[in-house]
Amino acid sequence: MNIPFNKPYLAGKELYYIGESVKNGHLSGNGVFTKKCQEFFENRYGFKKCLLTTSCTDALEMCALLLDIKPGDEVIVPSYAFVSTALPFTRQGAKIIFADSRSDRPGVDETSIEELITPKTKAIVVLHYAGVASDMDIIMEIAGKYNIFVVEDAAHAIESFYKGRPLGGIGHLGAFSFHETKNIQCGEGGLLIINDERFTKRAEIIWEKGTNRAAFFRGEIDKYGWVDTGSSFLPSDMIAAFLYGQLENLDKIQQRRLSIWNRYYDTLKKYEDLGIVTLPVIPKFASNNGHIFYLLFSSLGRRSYFIRKMKECGCACSFHYLSLHRSEYYRNLHDGRELVNADRYMDTLVRLPIFYDLAEEEFDYLLKRLDEVLGEMIGEKLVI
Ligand SMILES: *Cc1c(COP(=O)(O)O)cnc(C)c1O
Repeated sequence: MNIPFNKPYLAGKELYYIGESVKNGHLSGNGVFTKKCQEFFENRYGFKKCLLTTSCTDALEMCALLLDIKPGDEVIVPSYAFVSTALPFTRQGAKIIFADSRSDRPGVDETSIEELITPKTKAIVVLHYAGVASDMDIIMEIAGKYNIFVVEDAAHAIESFYKGRPLGGIGHLGAFSFHETKNIQCGEGGLLIINDERFTKRAEIIWEKGTNRAAFFRGEIDKYGWVDTGSSFLPSDMIAAFLYGQLENLDKIQQRRLSIWNRYYDTLKKYEDLGIVTLPVIPKFASNNGHIFYLLFSSLGRRSYFIRKMKECGCACSFHYLSLHRSEYYRNLHDGRELVNADRYMDTLVRLPIFYDLAEEEFDYLLKRLDEVLGEMIGEKLVI
């Protein structure tokens, strides 16, 4: 049996809605389905303003433009993160000050942030790893104290909450991803969430190539033109049509992913009790959205052994980020601080397959193989 790490899921009406969008005759951006998707998020989560983008990376680039990030600025970003968490800010010329992860889970160590702040600090970027919230009260308090902005990279975090508040809706700005590896997907896609009204008007302009076209289409002005910087950040309405087909099924998709996540947890708990692996921790203030199920091993060697053994029986398990402060692009620009937790997750974290279409017999097979491989790793028999 061959079980991939991920399989993009089709909920049913995606292609039908693409057909509808073609029939509408408005194929470019900001059409009927774009509005439907944006309203979905505004209604479901109470977000003040949402703009659909071609990717989460693009939404984060919009954040960097909206915050006027420029050379001389510093932006605090967790090192255990995706390239796009940092890239948009470096592209505007900022220096990235990398923060370490917590010792108990991969999210940023909230208590390590304050000492990284200097008079040049413009923003803190938070990544809610695996959709598990960082402690946003601590982060928002620090940001308020030093008058700096908070951007939530909520790429993993659709339908996840912090003390009941939806992630993406707490910082000044937030960004979701609808890349095909995420819970809700349209191949490539993203969403900018604007929680601070000071940014709303300018966000629409940056979204539409630096023009005030969105206001023109609402009839607020009688001609539109070039008024600011920007780019073409908005996707075709056909992409939005596909995405809408997924959003309609959000509850169903979440239920399935959570049931897989919970069964992994219940089945593998005994290996945590035996000291073979560490399972994910969800703090009391956070919810779980079933985006990632990961295990932590005690060494790189043990993780490599596990991935190889699982692969031999057809099960694709995957490590995750390489610490950004060690990346080829940034290592010579990093200030040299050791980030031991980020490095530990780089070496020891492994993600297990989790996707809607995982069939019951595939899941049974997967769990049996996990029992065999982890069973072999008990005790002193195996030296790695
Ligand atoms: C997937 C991901 C992104 C990038 O999303 P795209 O939509 O592919 O641009 C950014 N940050 C994190 C944490 C991600 O996982």
